[in-house]
Amino acid sequence: MTKETLGFQTEVKQLLQLMIHSLYSNKEIFLRELISNASDACDKLRFEALHNEALFENDGELKIHVAFDKDARTLTIRDNGIGMNREEVIKNIGTIARSGTKEFFSQLSGDAKKDANLIGQFGVGFYSAFIVADKVTLTTRRAGQVANQGVRWESAGDGEFTIEEVEKTDRGTEIVLHLKEGEDELLSDWRLRSIIRKYSDHITLPILMKKAPGYDKDGNVEASDELETVNKASALWARSKSEISDEEYNEFYKHVAHDFEDPLTWSHARVEGRQEYTELLYIPQRAPFDLYDRERRHGIKLYVRRVFIMEDAEKLLPQYLRFVRGVIDSSDLPLNVSREILQHSKDIEQIKAGCVKKVLGLLESLATSEDQADKDKYAKFWQEFGRVLKEGIGEDFANKDKIAALCRFASTHADTPEQIVSLADYIGRMKEGQDAIYYITAETFAAAKNSPHLEALRKKGIEVLLLADRVDEWVVGSLHEFEGKKLQSVAKGELDLSKFEDEAEKKQQEEAAVELKDVIEKIGETLGEKVKEVRVTHRLSESPACLVVENSDMSANLERLLKSAGQ
Ligand code: ADP
Ligand code: MG
Repeated sequence: MTKETLGFQTEVKQLLQLMIHSLYSNKEIFLRELISNASDACDKLRFEALHNEALFENDGELKIHVAFDKDARTLTIRDNGIGMNREEVIKNIGTIARSGTKEFFSQLSGDAKKDANLIGQFGVGFYSAFIVADKVTLTTRRAGQVANQGVRWESAGDGEFTIEEVEKTDRGTEIVLHLKEGEDELLSDWRLRSIIRKYSDHITLPILMKKAPGYDKDGNVEASDELETVNKASALWARSKSEISDEEYNEFYKHVAHDFEDPLTWSHARVEGRQEYTELLYIPQRAPFDLYDRERRHGIKLYVRRVFIMEDAEKLLPQYLRFVRGVIDSSDLPLNVSREILQHSKDIEQIKAGCVKKVLGLLESLATSEDQADKDKYAKFWQEFGRVLKEGIGEDFANKDKIAALCRFASTHADTPEQIVSLADYIGRMKEGQDAIYYITAETFAAAKNSPHLEALRKKGIEVLLLADRVDEWVVGSLHEFEGKKLQSVAKGELDLSKFEDEAEKKQQEEAAVELKDVIEKIGETLGEKVKEVRVTHRLSESPACLVVENSDMSANLERLLKSAGQ
């Protein structure tokens, strides 16, 4: 086939422009991104080859090469991983096929600093090559295909790329960066090595470079074609904690999570017992924009005795912890474990339960810490992922109470939308004689806060949780009590506040009931079938009337949610 010129998707064009401007001050990360991709490509090959040995083409030693050419002013990154066919090149490099992409771009501000963070959230990877290159040539052949099925992709990052079929004998991908004017400092053995050690030391495969030229005994430069490994090339998670610096943990996180920012925190442990495994689990600082996307791509990587098995094994953590990133390396699972086996494996169930415990424990230690930095971290975590964690109350029966203890809510105590009140805080402020945790659910915070159902409680100084996240209906539907205190909607049933009233108040109410008897009957007759019952209420102090549902009924808010979901 002849050479074809195709246009980038509009979003890709925008992204390229933005990247070049906002990430320039940190430009050397392009190498980290390309090496990260090369490593992923090798992992993918290893996984596919588990079921089809032939894909190795008699070359099972996976590795990454980095080279430079001073005269041509190019850098080359080469791997013998899975490679790509023509469709894959077009799909992976040239389009961003992820839901939410449009919304994402509409959030960009043009302020380089702010946008750099957003870009991190998006995970741009390959395109970072254009920060330093004014032309990128990618040549690739997918494992298992014949040599003349190679593909060459080339672009100046200006909106178009060309694609053609070429001959490529060795499998995998080679990326050549033609450096921009002024980027010559990258054409240095020393410089490249130091970037690799800084950002890619944790890559499990060897990253090879030509041996640096030495001097013979007469002082002449002695160049050598021999290659040597530049990185540690050992699995970071298999090393002992005391030998790993925070920087190393951070860089490893960026690779597994495809994130540009450091993680919020992590848990690294070797677990022994019936199942032996190592887990290194991270909590990101920021929710990815596809957190609610069912097709979302990254999660936990599963290894068996250091061999990569699969990415994104949904079975390894429950849905409500889907924001966690990292690796689990099992000592016991068989190497040929498949997704199907994982689905029904008791061993996996155990590993999963152990990891859930670890993550919840990690969150708990932040949430209950006396240290202000930890408290701030927890607040940040809650802001980003609280709504997802709350799903766990309905999803994970065994850990329901633990999760409930981690939840934070808005309440009438501060009367602001900030979700900062724990159920334990609430219980600590309960009035003498109060035996229920009162809440109200509504569509928005303002609707909850201004609800007439709160009037009497406000007057008596009784705190009410103000719940306005969609997931909250599910939370209160699944969590009936906390530490022996019942959760009670203030919009349901007869709200008995008599305990908080003095004799005079009670007397006044009894009189009112007698006095209003006729009116109540009239209203009941007028409304007829539309209502179950009309009664005198003491929950109001300003408003004349309000609607309530029976204790056993669906709340008005839930009814609205279900209606809007078409149910
Ligand atoms: P991400 O790594 O987060 O998926 P990138 O922009 O870094 O995003 O890469 C986009 C996609 O291009 C990858 O998901 C992969 O499918 C493909 N790709 C990039 N580099 C390589 C490579 N060296 N070998 C095979 N596929 C690659
Ligand atoms: Mg990448």
